[in-house]
Amino acid sequence: MESNREKRKREHKEKQKIVSLKREQSTRLRRLGAILNKDEDLRTDEESKFLEENKSFITIAKCRLVRQNELKQRTEEIEDELDVLNDKIDKLVDLIGKSEHICVYTGAGISTSSNIPDYRGPNGVWTQLNKNGSVLKTQDLALATPTYTHMSLKALVKANIIKHIVSQNCDGLHLRSGLPIEKLSEIHGNMFVEVCPNCERAFYRNFDVTEHTGLRHHKTGRFCSHCIELDDKDINCELIDTIVHFGEKGYLNYPLNWAGASEAVSKCDLIICLGSSLKVLKNYSCLWPKKNHKKKKVTLVVCNLQWTPKDSQASLKINAKCDLLFEKLMRKLNLDVEPYDKDKDKLKQLYLPLKVDEQETCKRYQLFTTNQIKIESDSLTPGWFAKGANVKFKRTK
Ligand SMILES: [Zn+2]
Repeated sequence: MESNREKRKREHKEKQKIVSLKREQSTRLRRLGAILNKDEDLRTDEESKFLEENKSFITIAKCRLVRQNELKQRTEEIEDELDVLNDKIDKLVDLIGKSEHICVYTGAGISTSSNIPDYRGPNGVWTQLNKNGSVLKTQDLALATPTYTHMSLKALVKANIIKHIVSQNCDGLHLRSGLPIEKLSEIHGNMFVEVCPNCERAFYRNFDVTEHTGLRHHKTGRFCSHCIELDDKDINCELIDTIVHFGEKGYLNYPLNWAGASEAVSKCDLIICLGSSLKVLKNYSCLWPKKNHKKKKVTLVVCNLQWTPKDSQASLKINAKCDLLFEKLMRKLNLDVEPYDKDKDKLKQLYLPLKVDEQETCKRYQLFTTNQIKIESDSLTPGWFAKGANVKFKRTK
């Protein structure tokens, strides 16, 4: 009879055997793949012999190669030729003309011309982290300004062509472009907003409120000016940021505004996705109805440089940078786009300055104040941006 100790020993041995078999198989397939990738004429005798000896594994190795190539292609950024792009924009104009209720979903790709790194592009945050295995230097996102795409979207909402915008971005640039709050769902939060967990009042700030916060740790160190007056020890009124990290579920009404998003999506007949890999958005099933409440088919358009998991369902896939797409689209729609103007920035109207006793809670750059930064170069980007974009800023001491 086998004792418990002997049983554990035997099971451990069996496990180790499986692990070593798997490792051996993986090494074999890798070697086969490398040989199969070579021209037949260039293979050495030893390599040809290895192929012959492992004939039964060749089909698996070939499948593996196809899969690897597919995955590699998915990470490549592809741009449509100009004539192809123009044809696609004609189709988009046609779809926009036929639609009654358009919703737009945006990701980091619409902010890249504002020097915010997107997440999964070749220079994206995640790609860089994968490559280097190191933490990137944090950029002060408060220095970014709305792009041409943000300003075009604002114009399209104003013209009542787009009914609602759902954004994954926390950079607050949609709000700062002047988009009405009720037309926007920032489903992963807004870095300029902190909320009271007791009364749910939102406090806008002119700086990134996430300085001391992170995953499952959202307290900003400031307090709700209304609830603190109640002088009740049982009330928790330490403000929290609104950011929804990977693995968290966002529950705040504002600025996430899931209610506004659901209502708009239930009515929509055209969804346009811009600058998002959709790898996270695809998981929110309520954003992807096949038919709207009038039982009308919902058409999908995707504009992204890389592959997305929704490409196969899209009626139109546009491989272009968002600013280029909108420059052409707005011209075809004959709509003017106001340049971003710092003085008309919505945040400038909404933000609540820090009180004297709160000054210590923020070391980050504060917008709309003049004494904190000096502009390194005064060569502004030609053309579109009135102020701010692509200028290197340097903090003064
Ligand atoms: Zn409160």
